[in-house]
Amino acid sequence: MAGYTGRMTDQRQYDSLEASELFCGTCKQAQPVRQHLLLVLPTGNKYEYRCAVCGTPVGAKDDTDASEYNSILSGRKLK
Ligand SMILES: [Zn+2]
Repeated sequence: MAGYTGRMTDQRQYDSLEASELFCGTCKQAQPVRQHLLLVLPTGNKYEYRCAVCGTPVGAKDDTDASEYNSILSGRKLK
């Protein structure tokens, strides 16, 4: 495990900006996407992007933010 960087807030802001539109094979054009949280793992979270119009999965993403997992483990919000 790498050391805690203390830059989690910056990373979250960056994450929320990426992949706002992806090409959808069903719509045959780029569409806005919705991010769905699939799994919460000790190593980070797994997300899936789905077309906001037809719901087809158009992409996926893993992040390395374990704070969600840790907050579940501890049974309380970490702020
Ligand atoms: Zn679509």
